[in-house]
Amino acid sequence: MRSIRFHGRGGQGAKTASRIVGTAAFLEGLTAQDSPLYGAERRGAPVSASTRIGREPIRERGLILQPDLIIIADESLIDDSSARVLDGLSERTAVFVNTALGSEQARDRFRIPGRVTALDLTDMTLRQFGKPVALSAPLGAVACRLLGLKAESLRAAVAGELADLGLPEAVIERNLALAASCYESVPLVPVEETAGAMPAPVPLWTPVYEPPTVGSARISASANSPLHETGGWRTFRPVLVPDKCNGCWLCFVYCPDGVISMTKDDLPLIDYDHCKGCQICVQECPTKALVAEREQEGAGTWRAK
Ligand code: SF4
Ligand code: SF4
Repeated sequence: MRSIRFHGRGGQGAKTASRIVGTAAFLEGLTAQDSPLYGAERRGAPVSASTRIGREPIRERGLILQPDLIIIADESLIDDSSARVLDGLSERTAVFVNTALGSEQARDRFRIPGRVTALDLTDMTLRQFGKPVALSAPLGAVACRLLGLKAESLRAAVAGELADLGLPEAVIERNLALAASCYESVPLVPVEETAGAMPAPVPLWTPVYEPPTVGSARISASANSPLHETGGWRTFRPVLVPDKCNGCWLCFVYCPDGVISMTKDDLPLIDYDHCKGCQICVQECPTKALVAEREQEGAGTWRAK
C-alpha cells in the first residue's frame, strides 16, 4: 500500500486532486481510499486530503501519519505551523512542492530531509488559464506520475472528477492538457511502498463537556480572529489600480474578513496582515480595479509579527 497526503489551502483543489489519484488507481484495478480533512472551512485556510492505494483491501483508516508521498500545493504551508505538512516525514518519504524553486533549492530552503521534487504548477496553470484557478488537475497529475500510474488513467480520472463538479467541457479540456503537461514535466522520484505492519493505533482525544465560560471560543485568545494574521495564507494578493476605481465600495462589502476599509477619497485600503487572498474582491469589482498578483516576496517568506 502507498499513502499519499495532500496539503493545500481552501480553494486550491487538494481534495479533488486526492480523488483524481484514487480514481486513477481504481481504474488500474487497485483498491483506493480518499478522505479530505477541512480545518477552518475558509478559502485560504490549510486543508489536507489523504489517499491510500494498494493491491489488497485497505483496512487502515483515518489520518495518514507516516506518508509515503507528501504533495504540497503551496510552499507557504511549510512554514505555517498549523498546517503540519511535514508531520510523519522520514528519509524515505517523497515530497513534492509546488514552487518556483528547483528541487535542490526547495530541499535546502525548506530544510526537508530526504527526497524532494519541485515544479512551478502555479506558473504552468497561469500560462494555461491566464488567471489563478484551482490546481486539482496539476496536483493529481504530479501524484499519478510519482506513483507510476498511467497517463491514460490520469486523463480518465481528471475528465470524470471535473465533470462530476459540473465544469464546462472547454474547461475540462484545458485541464486535461495542463495535466498531461505536468505529468510529463515532473522530475521523477520513485515512491516506496509502506513496509511492515500497520502503524500502532493512536489514542483519540475525547472532548469533555465544559460550561460556556470555559468551552466557548474567546475572540481575544491568542491566534484567534483579529489576532490571527492570515496574510500568510495568501499566494495571490489583491492590488488596486486606482485609476480604474469608481469608489463603489463593493469590495468593502464583499470582503468576508472585513479587511478592506475605505479612505476618505473612496479608495479601498487593504489590510494585508489579515487579507487571506481569497480573491472575492477581485471577482466582485465591477471595473476590474482590483487585480490578483502572485506574491513576489513569496507567501512562504511572510511572517506574522
Ligand atoms: S469594488 Fe472596485 S471599483 Fe468598487 S471601490 Fe472596490 S476597487 Fe473600487
Ligand atoms: S481583501 Fe479581497 S482577497 Fe483579501 S480577504 Fe478580502 S476579499 Fe479576500
